[in-house]
Amino acid sequence: MLKQTFLRLALPTPLRRLFDYLPPQLLDVKALLPGMRVRVPFQSRTLVGVLMEVVSETSIPYEKLKTALEVLDERPVVMPDVFQLCQWAAAYYHYSLGEVLAGALPTLLRKGAAATFKPSVETPPVLSEEPVLCMNTPQQQAVAAICESQGHYQTFLLDGVTGSGKTEVYLRAMAAFLQAGQQVLVLVPEISLTPQTIARFQSRFPVVIAALHSSLTEKQRLQAWLKAREGEAKIVIGTRSAIFTPFANLGLIIVDEEHDGSFKQQDRFRYHARDLAIMRANALQLPVVLGSATPSLETLLNAERERYRYLALPERAGVAELPRFQVVDVGQTVVEEGLSDTLLQAISDHLAANNQVMLFLNRRGFSPVYYCTECAWIVECKRCDARMVYHKTPPRLQCHHCDARMQVPVKCGACHASAMQPVGLGTQRLEQVLARRFPDVPLIRVDRDSTRQKGALQDLLDQIHREPRAILLGTQMLAKGHHFPQVTLVGVLDADSGLFSADFRAAEQMGQLLLQVSGRAGRAEKPGVVFIQTRHPEHPLLQLLTGQGYQPFARKLLAERAHAWLPPYTYFAVFRAEAYSQSAADIFLTNIRALSRPYQSALSVLGPVPALLAKRKGLHCLNLLIKAKKRSHLQQFLGAVLPQLDKLPAAPAVKWVLDVDPVEV
Ligand code: ADP
Ligand code: ZN
Ligand code: ZN
Repeated sequence: MLKQTFLRLALPTPLRRLFDYLPPQLLDVKALLPGMRVRVPFQSRTLVGVLMEVVSETSIPYEKLKTALEVLDERPVVMPDVFQLCQWAAAYYHYSLGEVLAGALPTLLRKGAAATFKPSVETPPVLSEEPVLCMNTPQQQAVAAICESQGHYQTFLLDGVTGSGKTEVYLRAMAAFLQAGQQVLVLVPEISLTPQTIARFQSRFPVVIAALHSSLTEKQRLQAWLKAREGEAKIVIGTRSAIFTPFANLGLIIVDEEHDGSFKQQDRFRYHARDLAIMRANALQLPVVLGSATPSLETLLNAERERYRYLALPERAGVAELPRFQVVDVGQTVVEEGLSDTLLQAISDHLAANNQVMLFLNRRGFSPVYYCTECAWIVECKRCDARMVYHKTPPRLQCHHCDARMQVPVKCGACHASAMQPVGLGTQRLEQVLARRFPDVPLIRVDRDSTRQKGALQDLLDQIHREPRAILLGTQMLAKGHHFPQVTLVGVLDADSGLFSADFRAAEQMGQLLLQVSGRAGRAEKPGVVFIQTRHPEHPLLQLLTGQGYQPFARKLLAERAHAWLPPYTYFAVFRAEAYSQSAADIFLTNIRALSRPYQSALSVLGPVPALLAKRKGLHCLNLLIKAKKRSHLQQFLGAVLPQLDKLPAAPAVKWVLDVDPVEV
């Protein structure tokens, strides 16, 4: 009897299982390898899947088996280590392997295009030899430690205040790995992948650098991916999804600003690129460097437990000094449109000294509230549990959650009085206030609205580098990663939202943001000062942060987390359910809760409770939080319960996702 063979495939569908097909006619199955793409009929469509294995048995009845249409590759497009990473991630985050694998491929490959590599004709640029810096002792020690780990796994935490020369450490360490013929992967937060970042790496190394940024065309992205796979690109710089890039000979991974929230994907497949970087380094036996001025509490705890090796750069490199903090109490004084007299005076002084001032307000638009001065009616989004934000240029009301827009109403929707007014301060309004106060000073506003167009952020950054004296204002976009040597004064208009939030990570994020913002000040020869406006100057966390710095602040937060049994001392997963009827979502999550009963001793379950934003795009959003002292207990429960969920009676009415290690709860 002929031996029958079947192709076992991972297909890009949400179904968490593999699919068996008959091989295409006349195909030599001996030539097949896992990781090759196969095109197959699926329901009424065709899909491009990835071959897992060739098997000789299947549980599918013969008459139901379909025949695959074609095998698209002569060699695997998913290389063994990426394959392994995807399998691990699909299991850990409980996501469909087929979708994970598809997400790991450039769009063109996902659609079935050929993986044809076109070697570059361009020769890599010649080294410009900017002056070589003399590294300080901590920098030298850090570089030596990283280089010693060549060829085996080690996670490093490079903890260095802003401007302490972390990037210099990356560059020196990279030089050694490149010298040895290895490739380097550098992961950066979304906001940092600017032409300057790429140029800084390119000016050091006369090698091909593949930068995986959002303005690449699909063709360019595929070629960049192939350059890494073929070993032509020696350095790959990219945001979180670059963790899935294949390499011919990867030697080192760097995760810059490891605490940054953009490493966590917040929709569909909710992975954390930093954590995957560590898994990949472990599997490939190579070092990974996590760098930050404000490490996440997870990473700090791992360093404390000596799972990661701790490398510190305690001082600013060269002549730059760390900025001073000044806490401004705005509880008693009347603050005119967000700016206290103290801060206004400081702005005038710093401008008079021909310096730049940076003002930070984490609220875009003109005013967060549009309301009736007669009856206090407020315009709310019809589809979300949120207020419409007033935008002045162009005039409209806009929901920042679902992007719904409407014309600015003249009359109140409740009492019909012509008494509608914007209240509260957003970046657009701040810009207007400043324009009145400082009419002859250039104002440069950086937020999502002012940078929507391609190249707009770059233009604004260029302008910042051109103008000696200017006021820069913006949201957290302005806070991260950039180097603005002319800034000597930073003003944080409202530090309070982080101190009193329902989210347990809010204080950590506030601290990171304040230090990142302050890290923009006084990076060159000129010393900097940071004014923080608050209604709670006595708040112990704020005192600790501004008085003693990030380390003591983080230790205090860690102690609080330990006390309250919160991550990183425990492990979280959240089921997020959305439905048009609140009760459907509620019943669905309550059923999951019931399924957790056999695991009661190992887990605690909170909810269902409405999400922070209880209604979004017309859907009611509820969460069920699962908490465990051991990761393995959490994983066991999730593994057991997930296959049952689609059969729950409420399932058809509910859209749900699972978020393992959620960043927002
Ligand atoms: P970080 O990445 O920690 O913010 P950078 O590596 O960007 O810091 O360094 C900040 C500035 O200090 C840069 O202008 C860099 O050229 C300079 N720098 C770094 N190391 C040294 C050093 N050892 N001596 C003098 N200047 C240095
Ligand atoms: Zn009214
Ligand atoms: Zn909305």
